[in-house]
Amino acid sequence: MESMTKYKETPTPETLNFLSSVVGEAHISTANADLEQHAKDQSFHEAHTPGVVVWPDSVEEIKTILKYANQQRIPVTPWGAGTSLEGNPIPLYGGIVLDTMRMDKILEVRPADFQVDVQSGLKYKDMNAELGRQGLFFAPDPGANASIGGMLANNAAGTRTLRYGTTKDNVLRLEVVLASGEIIRTGTRAAKTSSGYDLVHLFIGSEGTLGVITQATLQLAPLPDKFSAAVASFPTPENATQAVSGIMGSGITPAALEFLDLATVSALNASGELEAPEQPLLLIEFHSATDAGLAEELSIVEQICTQEGCSQFEGGLGRKERDRLWSARHQTYEILVRSNPGSAFVIMDVAVPISTYPRLVALAKEELAARGLHGYLVGHAGDGNLHPLIPYTPGDADSYALAFAADQAIVEAAISMGGTATGEHGVGIGKSPFMSLEHGSSLEVMRAIKATLDPHGILNPGKIFGVGEG
Ligand SMILES: Cc1cc2nc3c(=O)[nH]c(=O)nc-3n(C[C@H](O)[C@H](O)[C@H](O)COP(=O)(O)OP(=O)(O)OC[C@H]3O[C@@H](n4cnc5c(N)ncnc54)[C@H](O)[C@@H]3O)c2cc1C
Repeated sequence: MESMTKYKETPTPETLNFLSSVVGEAHISTANADLEQHAKDQSFHEAHTPGVVVWPDSVEEIKTILKYANQQRIPVTPWGAGTSLEGNPIPLYGGIVLDTMRMDKILEVRPADFQVDVQSGLKYKDMNAELGRQGLFFAPDPGANASIGGMLANNAAGTRTLRYGTTKDNVLRLEVVLASGEIIRTGTRAAKTSSGYDLVHLFIGSEGTLGVITQATLQLAPLPDKFSAAVASFPTPENATQAVSGIMGSGITPAALEFLDLATVSALNASGELEAPEQPLLLIEFHSATDAGLAEELSIVEQICTQEGCSQFEGGLGRKERDRLWSARHQTYEILVRSNPGSAFVIMDVAVPISTYPRLVALAKEELAARGLHGYLVGHAGDGNLHPLIPYTPGDADSYALAFAADQAIVEAAISMGGTATGEHGVGIGKSPFMSLEHGSSLEVMRAIKATLDPHGILNPGKIFGVGEG
């Protein structure tokens, strides 16, 4: 990759001394192991090592670091848990990686308001383990144990988004350090507000390019009293995806509605994590205040599935079976990696309006087949999100080119259906070429916002707008 001379990729001894004086000697490293650990997320994108990693533990330390980096034109890339799937925290231009791991405190829980104040380095699973003792949870659930800062910055979502929303729907206030070092606090604790520009949501999905999030007030939900799960198997993906539209059109909002194609079901069955008919399936979860409510929803959904040709509907699954199903669903990627030894994966993340979901799934299958590729189609079907997972052979340029071509064709098709290049993984590296197609002239407004908040382009350069554009 071309080097951007405007940036200082490798820190000077003076810079290292300065950073050390801010965070303390024990919390800065240029050791290869630390640099390599912060050179790559969980995506298939190429690694790039930073010049230095720092682990601050307060907003004041971050303020001081950013002020200095801004004056010196040193790139700063925030780092949460490094579980992104689109290269989002890869420090493309070296410089400083700012790892928020030490800022992992729950600051205050307000059960009566269903709210929690947290530091941004806290991992959401750790937070939910603590909140569960008070009957509360933060609903967005990316499979990996992501940090709250990383979830906010990528607007992460997950299996329960259908009922509870994405990360952006569950955040009320933020504390953010801007590139200049200025600290701002935005948002209120009220459930709604019409007060001025919505700066909270400006930072959601900004992938560390507009500021470093240091604290957040999150909206929580009560742990459901009653829940139930169902597995609906269908002879074809068309039947399964038509049933998705039917369920969503019925007025019922399941807590989760996931689609797995035949190849994925077969791989999960072979791993021993799932025992389902060898057919495409929908995995559905219901939450309700009463048993009667659960039974009613289950019965309506079963009727819809039957009308759409469902060949087997296993409903009313208890906690043990339900936990096992979700464990299999959350381990899907790892299981597919194990069942394709020697392969890497292009991990996709398109989303479309729900009525076009069947067309998207059919088209993804066609694009794979046209290139002689095998792939897996998995998705948060209830919100129109599909993750085609396409194996390729690392080091084999032809194999990668084919997988990449299928990826590009599917993304373009999703956008042409009124959808998006990324439902939840963010723009990172792989989706920046589609930003113009998706956003048209509003991309210029995004550029103007970036130039206002980060005029020297030091924050996570190369992301959102692409390489060569701070
Ligand atoms: C097995 C697996 C399954 C996954 N499933 C899902 C899924 O279902 N849904 C989903 O949405 N995602 C999923 N992901 C992707 C990933 O977990 C999410 O994107 C998550 O939000 C990343 O959080 P992180 O803490 O790891 O952030 P990182 O990867 O460390 O960083 C993400 C981005 O946020 C920025 N950032 C980090 N912290 C801050 C901060 N404090 N302030 C400002 N910017 C910051 C970084 O610079 C980067 O651009 C999955 C990942 C894996 C490995």
